Amino acid sequence: MKTVVGVLYTLLPEIILLVFAVLLAHYAIDFQDAGVLATEVVTLFILLASLALSLQFNRSRMFFALLTLLVGYGALLMLAGKSDALGRQILDGALCLFLPLNLVCVHPLAERGVFTRYGAWPFGLLLLEIAFVIVLMGTRAQGVADALFVQFIHWPPLSAAAISQPGLLLLAIGLLWINDRLIRRHSAELAAFFFSLVATAVMLHSRQPIAVAIFVAAAALAFGFAIVLESWNMAYLDELTGLPGRRALEEQMRQLGGRYVIAMLDVDHFKHFNDTYGHDVGDQVLRLVASRLQQCAGGGKAFRYGGEEFGLLYPGRSLKETAPALEALRTDIETSGFNPRRGERRAAPGIPEVMDDGNPLRVTVSIGAAESSNPRGDPWGVLKTADQALYDAKHNGRNRVRLHGI
Ligand code: GH3
Ligand code: MG
Ligand code: MG
Repeated sequence: MKTVVGVLYTLLPEIILLVFAVLLAHYAIDFQDAGVLATEVVTLFILLASLALSLQFNRSRMFFALLTLLVGYGALLMLAGKSDALGRQILDGALCLFLPLNLVCVHPLAERGVFTRYGAWPFGLLLLEIAFVIVLMGTRAQGVADALFVQFIHWPPLSAAAISQPGLLLLAIGLLWINDRLIRRHSAELAAFFFSLVATAVMLHSRQPIAVAIFVAAAALAFGFAIVLESWNMAYLDELTGLPGRRALEEQMRQLGGRYVIAMLDVDHFKHFNDTYGHDVGDQVLRLVASRLQQCAGGGKAFRYGGEEFGLLYPGRSLKETAPALEALRTDIETSGFNPRRGERRAAPGIPEVMDDGNPLRVTVSIGAAESSNPRGDPWGVLKTADQALYDAKHNGRNRVRLHGI
């Protein structure tokens, strides 16, 4: 259930886009020539803007997906104006095959740049496909054109479908594959790829120039949105723990005013974890602490300040009101017990034998907190005071909470 909700939440922008695109395509059927032209110009603009964004942020997978959509869009417009039957068949068969093929092939690639040697093969694939269509148009090989529409299943609804069976097969494989990856990783990029296959299916099925333009624009918007969202995440979210990072904390601190509490939290003897069990186990400890902070901070907002230090913000609260929550948090982490993932509980290189008795590892944290009740209080001064209280907690034996001035 949680997975379904997670996937649906990730797909929410795409679901909204889909509803909007379906409604627009429905009403746009009555558009006059000027309306159709305007829609096509806007589509081209959205495609080029998203392409430029993908280049700016060096997102090669989405760049190649958008390039595929651009070339495919051009080919679909050509198809609408083509009158010779064999030429139509070739272009149609190639579109049904190559549009889904490219989207499916590009989505799992490693992110290794556009104009690099790794980018050569998606460019090569696209050029090969264009060359294939040109050669086929020139030679007018009826046998190959028929092969593009090979029928695997002779079932009337499938045989009569506007999309060729190889195309339908690729669309189905792509949707199942990306859906499977989305279940494990709720990423905006995967959601955009998933949606681009849905949009491709609609365009290839409908063939109405206006519907094609609307669904190309919708797919390009989904990619543009994913690029912006993931870039924002990269800047504001800490990759290891998923918590907002220092930049986000500083931004929120600028918005603080009146009464609030800032708490700083530091993992005790963290270096010891790294040295004894290895850096990977150290990372798992940080993820554990982060997840406890998200669940048990008693209304506080948690941030990863850096290394093994975390910050907590309690807007509108006094130190006295916050004290029980901080103490509960400290106890929660102390009693959580921590089982490293199988295979990772091992000595770091160069360390003789781990003192491993099979029991869960224990993690403790020290917390320092300070408050501001002055509307003009300087949050950076409060943070510094909280840091001093943390230093105090460390020097008084660790695994404790120190409240400045209390
Ligand atoms: P104390 O109780 O006084 O806080 O001691 P400590 O060992 O926790 O503190 P110290 O500052 O000596 O060590 C912090 C260590 O955290 C050193 C650094 O290598 C490690 N560290 C910082 N960031 C990361 C990270 O992202 N992952 C891992 N595994 N280790 C990290
Ligand atoms: Mg530290
Ligand atoms: Mg520490």
